[in-house]
Amino acid sequence: MSKQTEKGGISVQTEHIFPIIKKWLYSEKEIFLREIVSNACDAITKMKRLISLGEIRGVEDNFRVTVRLDKEEGTITVSDNGIGMTEEEVKNYICQIALSGALDFIQKYEGENGDSAPGIIGHFGLGFYSSFMVSESVDVITRSFNGEPAVKWECDDSGEYEMTPDYDRPERGTDVVMHIMDDEKEFLESAKIKEILQKYCAFMPVEIYFGDGHECKHDHKDDEDHECECSKPINDTHPLWQKPASECTDEEYKEFYNKVFHDYKEPLFHIHLSADYPLNFKGILYFPRINHEYESLEGQVKLYYNQVFVADNIKEVIPEYLLMLKGVLDCPELPLNVSRSYLQTNGYVTKISAHIIKKVADKLNSLFNTERERYEKLWNDIKLFVAYACIRDKKFYDRVKESILLQLTDGRYVTLSEYGSETVYYTTDKIVQAQYIAMYNAQGIDVAVLDKYIDTQFISTIEMENKIKFKRCDSDIADALKADGEVYDNKDLTDLFVKISGNDKLTVKYENLKDESVPCIVNIAEESRRFGDMIKMYRMEDMHAPIESTLIVNPGNKIIRKLGDNLDENIAKQVYTLALLSQRQLTADELKSFLSDSYILLEQL
Ligand code: ADP
Ligand code: MG
Repeated sequence: MSKQTEKGGISVQTEHIFPIIKKWLYSEKEIFLREIVSNACDAITKMKRLISLGEIRGVEDNFRVTVRLDKEEGTITVSDNGIGMTEEEVKNYICQIALSGALDFIQKYEGENGDSAPGIIGHFGLGFYSSFMVSESVDVITRSFNGEPAVKWECDDSGEYEMTPDYDRPERGTDVVMHIMDDEKEFLESAKIKEILQKYCAFMPVEIYFGDGHECKHDHKDDEDHECECSKPINDTHPLWQKPASECTDEEYKEFYNKVFHDYKEPLFHIHLSADYPLNFKGILYFPRINHEYESLEGQVKLYYNQVFVADNIKEVIPEYLLMLKGVLDCPELPLNVSRSYLQTNGYVTKISAHIIKKVADKLNSLFNTERERYEKLWNDIKLFVAYACIRDKKFYDRVKESILLQLTDGRYVTLSEYGSETVYYTTDKIVQAQYIAMYNAQGIDVAVLDKYIDTQFISTIEMENKIKFKRCDSDIADALKADGEVYDNKDLTDLFVKISGNDKLTVKYENLKDESVPCIVNIAEESRRFGDMIKMYRMEDMHAPIESTLIVNPGNKIIRKLGDNLDENIAKQVYTLALLSQRQLTADELKSFLSDSYILLEQL
């Protein structure tokens, strides 16, 4: 009994779906290809499953998905040799969109802009219909593995379809033929299709071949209508993240990194993630080499759903500071069918995030504990990341605090506990502050180099969590630098310094210094200076507001003794300017008068 062509209309609710699909995913039209190709892969995966369960026997193992572009016909065809569909199944799975909760969801979010959409389609049984974002009509020609005759289903973009039973398709599998609409001609470019396949399908679990009927230069004597399916698959069906870490080589990790991120700088190291049930996700995170602080710190953590690319950087899933890293995460359990704001409060997502943070911290600690030398070499490259992460997340700080290093002015690295004092002296500029550093070093006190913008915030974070206090070497005179001796005070000399400094707020203090060669030095208050640094960092401008400064005068010094006896303005000014000079760069005016004063002094010799 031969069947008649059957006509019908997609069920009532779906009339509303077509315009919504188009509008809703406007900015991400290209995902239609991901959806259709992933359906083809799913069909093959189901077939393989049936074979492995022993339900089907005697099937040759040449599973493949083929994407064919026919520019003249204006079509993109995705073919697979998966389980296929019977007529009944086409009616159930294609004609009726499984909408239950989906329709409510769409109604709710219809007004929202496109950003909430990527990743949602495809998890409601809407994936197939994304083909209508770019097609004026779509044909499905399919034949089930169960041997029933093939059917052809043709549907236009208003949802009107036509079913032709007993269609001529001898082999098992499905062709989805998309007739691309005039407005979407860009999808008929070979390069465009390749690019989309590379982006979304690079790690899909079934071999995918692409052909546009042109590029094949191979010799196919006995195969006349081949369409360059002979070339290599466009995807890697066994991405490295799916392999157990113990079976991956360093070389493979590097190669994978180069390939996925097109970054030919070698990554510093990687972390292979593999969390069992109930988290059930896998991934590889790389620490990229960061050349300098101002380089964009935007990394890339690509999110996959069963090897299907979903998005770059989903900050709802990965703590934002980890986005400085590069890597891949495959989370088959991720509830992508919900809005992003829901993801933020989702318990599963919070657990993934916590797991990743722990693994990153563990990796840093294990490098520190077992490969200290290598860790020290890496420190300057990872410090920015560690500092940023600690600032953003106290828990992360707690995990890694024993592995935080301070680089000393002589190049050595020590941890905070190895530094061994509650006050850490540091320099923000080894050259400008050389005089102070020398004074500390002479007394056996190490000075740490903290010369990055982020350090101001980083040390505040450490101070908040510890008893440690950071003091820049020009902010304070450590007790160890002071010599014993009677307390000296000379009001006239004080007045003289205030006068020649031109700053009536200048505080003058007398301290006996062990280093007698130093007449006086300038100390600037740590807190107000840090505040100034912060302002500079945020507004990227110089702050000229005066910062509290104190002139420390060393009465044991010869010049000061002379000055005490004979209040010479020129000498006082010279000594004061030299103190300024050893603390910071002189302004242009200061430098000009310093030079002319010096010449006058020299003339007097
Ligand atoms: P989902 O993939 O999330 O189930 P889709 O809208 O993408 O939703 O597909 C709907 C259904 O249509 C699939 O679940 C499957 O049963 C069927 N289907 C789609 N494409 C194919 C195919 N290439 N081969 C076999 N069945 C398919
Ligand atoms: Mg699908």
